[in-house]
Amino acid sequence: MNNSPGQRASTDGIKLETRAWIDGASVPALSGSTFVTLNPATGEPLAEVAACDEADVDRAVKAARRAFEGGAWSRCEPGERKEVLLRLAALLREHGEELALLESLDSGKTIRDCRNEVASEVPHFFQWYAETIDKSFGRVAPTGQRAVSMIVQEPIGVVGLIVPWNFPLLMAAWKLAPALATGCSVVLKPAEQTSLTALRLGELAAEAGIPAGVLNVVPGLGEQAGQAIGRHRDIDMVSFTGSGEVGAYLLGYAAQTNLKPVGLELGGKSPFLVLEQARVTDDLIESAVMAAFWNGGQNCSANMRQIVHRRHYDEFVGRTLARVKALVVGDPLDPATDIGAMITAEHRDRVAGFLRSGVEGGARILHGGTALDDNPGFFLRPTVFDGMTPQMRIAREEIFGPVMGLMVVDSDEDAFGIAVDTDFGLHASVFTQNIDQALRFARALPVGTVSVNSFSEGSIATPFGGYRRSGSLSRDNGIEALAQYQQTKTIWIGLGSQP
Ligand code: NAP
Ligand code: MG
Repeated sequence: MNNSPGQRASTDGIKLETRAWIDGASVPALSGSTFVTLNPATGEPLAEVAACDEADVDRAVKAARRAFEGGAWSRCEPGERKEVLLRLAALLREHGEELALLESLDSGKTIRDCRNEVASEVPHFFQWYAETIDKSFGRVAPTGQRAVSMIVQEPIGVVGLIVPWNFPLLMAAWKLAPALATGCSVVLKPAEQTSLTALRLGELAAEAGIPAGVLNVVPGLGEQAGQAIGRHRDIDMVSFTGSGEVGAYLLGYAAQTNLKPVGLELGGKSPFLVLEQARVTDDLIESAVMAAFWNGGQNCSANMRQIVHRRHYDEFVGRTLARVKALVVGDPLDPATDIGAMITAEHRDRVAGFLRSGVEGGARILHGGTALDDNPGFFLRPTVFDGMTPQMRIAREEIFGPVMGLMVVDSDEDAFGIAVDTDFGLHASVFTQNIDQALRFARALPVGTVSVNSFSEGSIATPFGGYRRSGSLSRDNGIEALAQYQQTKTIWIGLGSQP
């Protein structure tokens, strides 16, 4: 694994840990069952992973509860928790290349993105939240002379985290880092297609000094391990990133069991707006292309709906197509690759179904629309549609693949109208040189993140989440993320009437 940055990455000697991580040890599922995880770039089986079910989840919850009540993590000095999480950040950096390779093999994501996300952003997340622990203060309420009232935050307890396959370790870190920082114990279920990096993280967390039972990883199918987390009566909250359909199930499980709060980060159908007073620069074109095709479009905040003022349309289309044609699709382990494999053959076929629906609905394919010839991996070329109209299926439903849909408008007002005509509200990008207009759009768009003159989801310091059907009130990232994993307690101390 002595890889140099420009060369095709070698995975020789990489270790695949496939057992669950429960109570500080790698263990098979109690039933002995396994499921196969594939390498999406070859279509070949990569490993057989422990298929955890209700019994394994229960075992993990018991370990997590014991650890939480024991207090070694939940009630230790803030500085101690901070030191352990900083050690974990350092270990994640040290093992960055190994984790990036594992992620790329298991998910089909490009090694370039994996190096950035897994080897750099993930450790940074643990470091960032570690550094908040000993700088968080409670408050004193304005109660007058007869009482003192303290408002304090406490870790909520045992939390269930359920994450998707599109950014496997990054989505896990978005939740794990703040949950662990607050002192919670965790049961994490990765997506069935991409469990390997989370399982390796369990081992590294133990090496860093996280006590047994505080962090448990239960790989398994959504219907089994995921549902068992959703229904478990001794889990105090669930934080979920994934589809709206499964988010709705989780609300149902909570309603039918212990009414645990459920934090939801769901899908999107985000607009990219090029308004009349935009300046069409190389940066804008790069943003447009990345907004649609980064991670093969398997991105909740993908700006698939690109709404462009007629004044710029021809130039925008010409320059965008030139850039899209230069995107390299293929071997994820080659650092020159821009778009790796789609997660599964079924998902690729589902996206291909959207392409057919677009054509049948009257949209025109300007580029792409096909798989890679003679390749057993799950690849799809980036596709650009023009003539997409707001009522088409491709304009309304989340595709989650490498598809850009262009819509030309005659006014900025029309652009706004189309942008908000959706059930979702995760993200929007707005391009204009008119600062008043940029701010008016930023205020008026009903979405969790608005990016002006760039395509960005923000940074670790900025909360991320959705309006409308894109999520619940919870937020990942930023100081705001801590609130998901904490409860607020009031301690009221009567002082009597004598001085
Ligand atoms: P998904 O099908 O909803 O799966 C997400 C997770 O839920 C997986 O771990 C899955 O397990 C589990 N699950 C499935 N059925 C379940 C059930 N009945 N009970 C409990 N858990 C269950 O979503 P996905 O296809 O993996 O991911 C794509 C979706 O995630 C898109 O909609 C995307 O927009 C969204 N997303 C949102 C954000 C955000 O921050 N807003 C970020 C990234 C992705 P299995 O793997 O076994 O099915
Ligand atoms: Mg896989």
